[in-house]
Amino acid sequence: MIEQPARVEGIPAGLTVRGLDRDQTPVADWLCACGRHERATGGAAVTALTASVIAGHCPHRAAGRAAA
Ligand SMILES: [Zn+2]
Repeated sequence: MIEQPARVEGIPAGLTVRGLDRDQTPVADWLCACGRHERATGGAAVTALTASVIAGHCPHRAAGRAAA
């Protein structure tokens, strides 16, 4: 698993998915290696996020700041 230290308390580094019970909306929290946090809410969004996240890979640096 991810062994990088987490800088944000309460959310472990890497991908955390919760709310998988039937009556809950699934929520995925992703803490990137660069420290950036992203959250996906809803089944489709969670699926997309989990599919796109690669442990140890930071897409933010690759994308640069062009869109910012
Ligand atoms: Zn990143």
